[in-house]
Amino acid sequence: MTTEVGQSEARPRTADSARVALLGNPNTGKSTLFNRLCGARQKTSNFPGTTQEARVGLVRADDHGAIELIDLPGVYSIELDMTEAALCRGMISGEIAPRGERLAPPDVICVMIDATDLGRGLVLVGEALRRRLPTVVAINMVDLARRRGVHADEGRLADILGCAVVVCSARTGEGVDRLLSEMARASIPNRTPPGDASGLERWADEVFAEVALGDDRDEARTITDRLDKAFTHPVAGVGAFAFVMALMFYVIFKLATYPMDLVDGLFASLADGVRRVLPEGILADLLAGGVVGGVGATVIFVPQICLLFFMISLLEDTGYLARAAFVMDRVLRPFGLSGHSFVPLLSSHACALPGIMSARAVPDRKDRLATILVAPFMTCSARIPVYVLLTTILFRGRPAMGAIAFVGCYALGIIAALGSAALARRTLLQGKSRPMALELPSYKVPSLSTALLTTLDRGLVFLKKAGSTILAISIVLWWLSTYPIVEPPPVATDLRARAAALVATAGDDSTDPLYESEMLLAEAGLLEAIHATRMSFAGRLGRGIEPVFRPLGFDWQLSVGVLSSFAAREVFVSTMAVMLTGEEDTETEGILDRLARATREDGVTPVFTVAVSWALLVYYVLAMQCLPTLAVTAKESGSVKWAVLQLVWMCTVAYLAAMIVYQSLLLFGVR
Ligand code: GDP
Repeated sequence: MTTEVGQSEARPRTADSARVALLGNPNTGKSTLFNRLCGARQKTSNFPGTTQEARVGLVRADDHGAIELIDLPGVYSIELDMTEAALCRGMISGEIAPRGERLAPPDVICVMIDATDLGRGLVLVGEALRRRLPTVVAINMVDLARRRGVHADEGRLADILGCAVVVCSARTGEGVDRLLSEMARASIPNRTPPGDASGLERWADEVFAEVALGDDRDEARTITDRLDKAFTHPVAGVGAFAFVMALMFYVIFKLATYPMDLVDGLFASLADGVRRVLPEGILADLLAGGVVGGVGATVIFVPQICLLFFMISLLEDTGYLARAAFVMDRVLRPFGLSGHSFVPLLSSHACALPGIMSARAVPDRKDRLATILVAPFMTCSARIPVYVLLTTILFRGRPAMGAIAFVGCYALGIIAALGSAALARRTLLQGKSRPMALELPSYKVPSLSTALLTTLDRGLVFLKKAGSTILAISIVLWWLSTYPIVEPPPVATDLRARAAALVATAGDDSTDPLYESEMLLAEAGLLEAIHATRMSFAGRLGRGIEPVFRPLGFDWQLSVGVLSSFAAREVFVSTMAVMLTGEEDTETEGILDRLARATREDGVTPVFTVAVSWALLVYYVLAMQCLPTLAVTAKESGSVKWAVLQLVWMCTVAYLAAMIVYQSLLLFGVR
């Protein structure tokens, strides 16, 4: 079965600390072990020229000296033609190292395998043994295996492999100390598994048959098999998938409203506080309106995003998401995408930033690029306020119809994404999508702490965006819509004078003139705000650009809204509120009604006619209006040209679709 190569050979360590490369299939618990051992003593760096990351950490254990642990990307085989496999290969041969690390083969390879799925891990063990480096095999998740009644004869396995085998649990800590001491004293295995890849699989099967014990083994497999059959069934599987997704989004929308209201309230009081503490003027305006207002409009979506990622992480951990990806593989393949793209596209429904970043897990380069390109078509949470505004205007008093339109927007985004992917895969990114490997991880009770950590991580990514890009953009927008400061229009000055006169002539007990004067002042304020916006740089820009948007039915005020949304979509609602009603607080009762009744400059034509509202809705579903996403696309795809393509393509599609909608509605007599 194996070739004996004589006595174990000692191999001198190349530095004070032993460098141990952690190799394993995805989901075998490498990260869990790594975090347990290294805690905060770790750093993440990427491999030169790629976005693939490796984590390097230091373990200081008294009895076994220092160990430098390198967490390699999860792979099923290191011999495949995939980025991750090539990186693992290069790391093991010493030709590639994460940025900042020296080029040298590791002193020890630790191959991690899943105790509940020994058979699959053994192929990788065989590949590692053929590298002839000191090797330790860790059989992880023994706690889970024990509960399932699956056992392995580790002594026999160590004999067959000719290297140390340690049974452990990264989660409970069992056996981890022994694993460390074996790492510290590992030597080159004294046997080598047979030649080529197919030979290795035969070999792995034989080893498995020899070491796997346990009476319930078959039963555990049958339950998994039955569940797998149901979850990947073309009909039952799709049904289960639809149910899980519907439940997930329902929970998110239902639960998120509470923390969102809280955040909203928090920022409102913050803005209030700023205005109370600072004297009235530019600084207070900038801080309350530009900084707190702009950042608050983004931060309000954090609860929704965190909830979505929390649920995705839990689902992923149970093992279900891999089955869902498998079901989606069949749906996505005709469009040139694969099941690997499923999680990135799903995540993009919260925010395209983490969605695009998770596309790193898509193994094929062209698949990955196509996924990145189309991910922002998915309805992210920043579009929701715009959908709410427009569907409310379109279907006032008919919430059921509004809900249908809302779902329609999500569907339109998905259709646009799939269509664009299909087009890209037939033109720029020609080639067949790589079918998803059939291997599925075992089912598990999800770990709450993993889910919380993931959520924290994603939430922070989003907050960073709010604290940097959005902050800068908010300040610029505030400046553009505030300057130049102009004289108030004569009508407003007249109104103010009349109000003052009313107050002066009013007797002590008369409330009517006072009330009337307040009304006059309010109207004056409104006129001044509209005039100021009209004359501001943003207003001038809007009027300049109006002809471009005229075929879509947008007037200059809407054009300003659309323009300002290029920084971030959610800005649209507050911009329209400022311009059309002179009030920044969109939560005020009746603000939607007032927006719905707002008129163009002629004072007669409504701004939001039915045709314009539909065109706007379609435009917001499809347009690329998010600078941070473009930045991430450029970074993750490795070139600015993909970001430019994304911008031009999405905006062209949005423009044409909105124009078709507007002109068709006009043609059918809908105004
Ligand atoms: P990686 O992809 O190899 O880095 O795997 P992770 O460390 O992310 O672990 C995958 C899943 O297995 C996570 O849900 C872990 O909580 C879980 N896990 C890891 N080690 C153990 C273990 O020893 N026992 C059990 N029951 N679960 C584990």
